[in-house]
Amino acid sequence: MSVWDDLQGQPAVVDQLRQAAEGEGLTHAWLFTGPPGSGRSNAAKAFAAALNCDQDDITRRGCGQCHACQTIVGETHSDVTFVRTEKVTITIDEARELVSTAGNRPSSARWRIIVVEDADRMAERTTNVLLKAIEEPTPRTIWMLCAPSPADVLVTIRSRCRPVALRLPPAADVAALLVSRDGIAPDVAERAARAAQSHVGIARRLARDPDARQRRLDTVRFPLHLRGVTAAVMMADKLVKIATEEAASSNEERDAAEKAALLATLGAPESGPLPPAMRGQVKQLEDDQKRRAKRSITDSLDRTLTDLLSFYRDVLIIQMGNAVDLVNLELRDELQEFAGRSIPEVTLGRMDAINTARQRITTSNVAPLLAVESMAASLI
Ligand SMILES: [Zn+2]
Repeated sequence: MSVWDDLQGQPAVVDQLRQAAEGEGLTHAWLFTGPPGSGRSNAAKAFAAALNCDQDDITRRGCGQCHACQTIVGETHSDVTFVRTEKVTITIDEARELVSTAGNRPSSARWRIIVVEDADRMAERTTNVLLKAIEEPTPRTIWMLCAPSPADVLVTIRSRCRPVALRLPPAADVAALLVSRDGIAPDVAERAARAAQSHVGIARRLARDPDARQRRLDTVRFPLHLRGVTAAVMMADKLVKIATEEAASSNEERDAAEKAALLATLGAPESGPLPPAMRGQVKQLEDDQKRRAKRSITDSLDRTLTDLLSFYRDVLIIQMGNAVDLVNLELRDELQEFAGRSIPEVTLGRMDAINTARQRITTSNVAPLLAVESMAASLI
């Protein structure tokens, strides 16, 4: 299996990157854009592997089998750095450190590669630190920035990068990937891919975790019972709760594994209290995990609201007289009944209210519950 096999539904991007890896149109700065779940960072990773692959035959680079490919995919290659912020933004100190790493020649590989997964989570001042490095490139360094859309990155940066635009893969491709890579049963994979609206990570989670499926179903059924202000307040409260649970269940496992790994590295005793010298490091990890948890609640709430949005999207499709390709196929009867009670203009207004709430939650400091309550009120 080559590194390109993971990029389901992106044939144009695969062609573009393969050609570049073979030397045609290679440049030192790239901007990968696409909606969440389209696989921007996977595309950057595959490209990094192809550029540094050990194969002598240039057409076979990105083989997925050699040491370079495997360490890059496993994110342990010393010349390929992945930056993914668990905080809300990338700090200026982190950017300076990256620039200094970028200045070093690769130690063993053909290229030193820096993949910045959240290039949109940078303040302008921080971006300017990177800009200088991108403007005056080191000969053997390649930058790969990832963001939801080109507009999320300062124009000064954007204009110096070659664009790679990913699209959301068709649900059928996502389902096929779940079947072939994760061994999920085809019917479960199909339903999960559709419900996740082709977001690969979410689809995998829905396919594997019945609780996650139930939480999603609870979310999309909310509008069916939304009759008055009291119901709206309760719905807001529940939505925030669902998002918090969702975030907690995806963090728990990882937090515990990280702590166990740290304790093992420190050589901590298997039971009893920790020696004082180790407590500081454990505390540091726990603080980082708390910060990450906060951001993952924001992300998870955004996801929950996207699920809610899919209900109204389906309603709108039915109101426009076209009941094919419903995201929430299981609720077809309820959706049809709901659609008959309003008109497209009203549905569009409700979709706007949800999008406004999403924007307030992800880009400003409004308390999530307040934003969701005011949204719920305008959905009645
Ligand atoms: Zn290889």
